[in-house]
Amino acid sequence: MLIIKNATVVNFSPPEVHQGWDIVIESDQIAAAGPGASEGLTADEVWDLKGGIVHPGLVCSHNHFYSGLARGILADIPPSPDFISVLKNLWWRLDRGIDREILKSSGEICCLDAIRNGSTSVIDHHASPAFIDGSLSVLKEAFEKTGLRGMSCYETSDRNGLEEMKAGVAENIRMAEEIDREKAEGTWKGLFDCHIGGHAPFTVPEEGLKLLADAVESTGRGFHIHVAEDRYDVAHSHHHYGEDLLVRLDRHGLLNSKAIIAHGLYLSEEERKILDERNSFLAVNFRSNMNNNVGSQKYIGSVKNAALGTDGIGTDMWEEFKFAYFKHKDEGGPLWPGDFLGFLHNGNTILERNFDSRFGRIEKGYTADLVVSDYSPPTPLKAENIAGHIAFGQSASSVRSVVIGGNVVLRDREFPFDTGTLYEEARENAARLWENMNSIAP
Ligand SMILES: [Zn+2]
Repeated sequence: MLIIKNATVVNFSPPEVHQGWDIVIESDQIAAAGPGASEGLTADEVWDLKGGIVHPGLVCSHNHFYSGLARGILADIPPSPDFISVLKNLWWRLDRGIDREILKSSGEICCLDAIRNGSTSVIDHHASPAFIDGSLSVLKEAFEKTGLRGMSCYETSDRNGLEEMKAGVAENIRMAEEIDREKAEGTWKGLFDCHIGGHAPFTVPEEGLKLLADAVESTGRGFHIHVAEDRYDVAHSHHHYGEDLLVRLDRHGLLNSKAIIAHGLYLSEEERKILDERNSFLAVNFRSNMNNNVGSQKYIGSVKNAALGTDGIGTDMWEEFKFAYFKHKDEGGPLWPGDFLGFLHNGNTILERNFDSRFGRIEKGYTADLVVSDYSPPTPLKAENIAGHIAFGQSASSVRSVVIGGNVVLRDREFPFDTGTLYEEARENAARLWENMNSIAP
């Protein structure tokens, strides 16, 4: 048992600030939270925060841990004037250069980064065409080794041929079966589950969507795919299939309450209606959209379940929150920081639908995924202005300790194991990956 005393509890949704609370963590749950909640209890460990802040862990709802070693990339990349060139010249060469060791390093340093930023869960979307079979288990090991919660899936695609497309579907099913086996045997660590993944409608032909729909059905998992990240995806669908993107996916039965549609910059009114009727998620990624010059997300305020992701631009959700809000305001958008805090919080609903537990609040009965922060508000911190403090101040630098599923995974900014070797290995693997890319033609 871990007891946290004298905390200022900050809940994001609905927003609340409570002074002088105690939090009792037993196993992976918050067993009690409130004034005097720890009275008469003895714990293995007691932290007295003396008024310090505790808030729920942040959730990144769309990411790519395979791109963790792309930071500062030095490889021969031709000019890429449009979205498809960016994919062909950069990302589809980077992912083909990944082997088991590179993926292991990439996954590990991304997990460490997430924890250090106060992100307690990351929804990942994976590609490594030269190492498909078993790749999701390598990521699962990285999550479990560091104690991060999350999900992944393999992004099925025909971009390197139909055999590879089938191998992608098979890897998704294999991962789901491995997790189901662990759950049945009682060895599942409770941290990592999976989606069934597709890259994007323009790289998944009808045969692929049929296989993916069968996999969704047989595994009971949700579908995770990029949709309308660029206008090209929309035009491709109209040209080749004569229908809107989500109409096509829905025809295959791929949209349900566990499904995540990433980006969705160019969804029609009918598609947004389908998305909401199926109760699916829209994971938006403002920084990535800016980086790829594909346009900006205009519908975030008009769909039922919008959530924030980074699309591989790190795991710092404080920074993503700020960029999302400021980009929206830059375009004259009507939303306020509180709306964006709601979108950030919605990642917890993704977790609740996949982990069969409650997430996202410091409250009795919720999963103990939380952050101890040393943010010292220079102006009064109230329920009404939590989001304003985040938009205009609080950042990842305030993250002091992190608890995930009741385990202390970061204590006073230190990991419980030496990370120096992992970073050393990552730098070596990054250099090797960049070399690999130079021998892969766009
Ligand atoms: Zn993505």
